[in-house]
Amino acid sequence: MNRSAVIATTLFAGLSLVSYGTHMLAPVSADEPPLYGYSAESSRAERQWEEKFRALPSPENLRSYMQRLSARPHHVGSPYDKDNAEWIAAKFKEFGLDAQIETFDVLFPTPKERAVELVEGGPKFTAKLQEPAVDGDTTSGQQDEQLPTYNAYSIDGDVTAPLVYVNYGIPEDYEKLERLGVSVKGAIVIARYYHSWRGIKPKVAAEHGAVGCIIYSDPHEDGFTQGDTFPKGAYRPNDGVQRGSVADMPFYPGDPLTPGVGATKNAKRLKLEDAATITKIPVLPISYADAQPLLAALAGQIAPAAWRGGLGITYHIGPGPAKVHLKVKSNWDTKTIYDVIGRIPGSTFPGEWVIRGNHHDAWVNGAEDPISGQVALMEEARALGELLKSGWKPKRTIIYCAWDGEEPGLLGSTEWAEQHADELRAHAVAYINSDSNGRGYLGLEGSHTLEKFANDVAREIPDPETKLSVWKRDQLHEIANAASPEGRAEARDRADLRIAALGSGSDYTAFLQHDGVASLNIEFGGEDDGGIYHSIYDDFYWYTHFSDVDFIYGRALAQTGGTAVLRLADADLLPFEFGNFADTVQTYVKELKKLSERMQEEIRERNREIEEGVFSATNDPRRPLVAPKTEAVPPHLNFAPLENAADALTRSAAEYKKAFEQANANGGAALASASLADINKMLIATERKLTTTEGLPNRPWFKHQLYAPGYYTGYSAKTVPAVREPIEQKQWKQAETGIDVVARVLQDEAALISSAAAKLAAASAH
Ligand SMILES: [Zn+2]
Repeated sequence: MNRSAVIATTLFAGLSLVSYGTHMLAPVSADEPPLYGYSAESSRAERQWEEKFRALPSPENLRSYMQRLSARPHHVGSPYDKDNAEWIAAKFKEFGLDAQIETFDVLFPTPKERAVELVEGGPKFTAKLQEPAVDGDTTSGQQDEQLPTYNAYSIDGDVTAPLVYVNYGIPEDYEKLERLGVSVKGAIVIARYYHSWRGIKPKVAAEHGAVGCIIYSDPHEDGFTQGDTFPKGAYRPNDGVQRGSVADMPFYPGDPLTPGVGATKNAKRLKLEDAATITKIPVLPISYADAQPLLAALAGQIAPAAWRGGLGITYHIGPGPAKVHLKVKSNWDTKTIYDVIGRIPGSTFPGEWVIRGNHHDAWVNGAEDPISGQVALMEEARALGELLKSGWKPKRTIIYCAWDGEEPGLLGSTEWAEQHADELRAHAVAYINSDSNGRGYLGLEGSHTLEKFANDVAREIPDPETKLSVWKRDQLHEIANAASPEGRAEARDRADLRIAALGSGSDYTAFLQHDGVASLNIEFGGEDDGGIYHSIYDDFYWYTHFSDVDFIYGRALAQTGGTAVLRLADADLLPFEFGNFADTVQTYVKELKKLSERMQEEIRERNREIEEGVFSATNDPRRPLVAPKTEAVPPHLNFAPLENAADALTRSAAEYKKAFEQANANGGAALASASLADINKMLIATERKLTTTEGLPNRPWFKHQLYAPGYYTGYSAKTVPAVREPIEQKQWKQAETGIDVVARVLQDEAALISSAAAKLAAASAH
């Protein structure tokens, strides 16, 4: 998966670049301040290794790896998937890593029967469900090896029912339908892609009583409205289809049959009918060419303005008269997946692991998703191998991972992280993920204890187009796009750029949210055109005509990932920082308070309008709307425990900063001489401390108390989920409980940071 490629076009559309003042990267000078977590002496050595490293990744290599890895379809269970894994393992060995393939056996359904037909309400129509080969794009014709268009982990089903158009098919769309007096009970819904992870659409449809779900790509978001279509341009053609998983990953990702444990040969497995993450209703994705006759056959109310897409028809909601037959039947097979794991043993702290990963499996040829990220990871491994040959010895163990089975459900990374959970909890310093790569700005998301670190890394990487540092370019981009004067001021004045919280959608999920390993996700994007996501057209031809065609941003990604790995692996004191972290938690607490106040105000106001007769007076009898019902105004929640905990965190961060500055005085003499092993152990534990054994209410697999994918958004993060989601879902008691749980977690975190600060202060006093 790779959601940013999908949102990039809408997010950054219309962006124009102006030329700003210079902020070129200067060569290392002797009086430069030491790297965060390094003594002056070790910083000088580290900078030299890093510079050596960054000169190594080669665009030509990236291009040739991509050509090889995307030459044939390589989805889970295909011959070329295994072949690629073996090739990557051989390459890792050739580079000097100790490489192995670790396998798991997972449930992976593939289509046996698929049908979408219009049987009533319009001219009889049978959907093609097939992407045609394109002249000149040779791999698009490898039909024998291509997976048909489908949504993996849809339940089998054969239903015929009236059709209802539900816009994006997210909860607020159903609220609108209720006001419009439209029910989807017993209906097949048709939803367009976007505005949520795709698996949310059948989940919410089933909760509202629908019996089937069709998801299509509307040209408004993903097709000719955006730009010229492939092969003339980069955008999704008429018959292009977005494949993808619809397993309920916000409940738990990985193999549906082995939640919480590695899917080894002898693992205890659930029965298929007990696998909670398989959809409740059948679902299929279709192209806009296939969607048009279905949507054109709908009557009933006209869709609200915001629901209208780019198909050149009047969008109606239905239900009917269009009646649709939807059939999905899969082979429910077990397939072997192949994770490639390459190690470089640490010289001083072999028991501390720095982990870097990207998946290698694709839906079809997957040049962009995931190979554009995978090839950068391979160049990093090669370059680290070169450093080893010239005498570099990382202090910590480095682990490079090429995951299998990410597309169907984060299978390879989740099973590996479940299988090795105890080791990861004991040894993992951090996990750095990428998934795909394009052109433009460095996207940084992750744990806020690594926010400063991520900013520091970005300051070192030259942007291939402007020659500014990628950090400077990100900053100027934020200034240009700030939503408010305050946002603009912050982008100018705050020492570090804010990084976004991680939700889900790629392989960091199990590390961060299940095992409590501090994580970062990196990717260049924002200047991409595209509409080939999860289709047969995501291939070498498309990538080398329309994306990072000369692989200069691929090199920048390798430089970013490798610099981060090197710097974490060699630091004297691990570069976690808690000022930015505490600042972020404070903003979360303020947001939650505001959210609960806003909900009170909204409900109070709506109740008042109902009483005043606003809804009956403004109701047009020809376009009647169902008036909302009076609701109890939400109670005041007691946020004091959370506010006190956030303040404790701010205090402990200040203590740590003071101790760090002491340790850093006089060229970091204390960092060079003191034994930091115990302190580093405590720093590693700071992310673990943010998890609870019980996990989130109603989804115990998710253990992190600050970050989770939204139960009803899927990709995007819900921060402080045990409090935020109950408030959004009007479960006030649950919200109160959540406040107490999270407050306790943050108090414990503050205590841990304080003890690390005290230990560091004592170490530098000697
Ligand atoms: Zn991907």
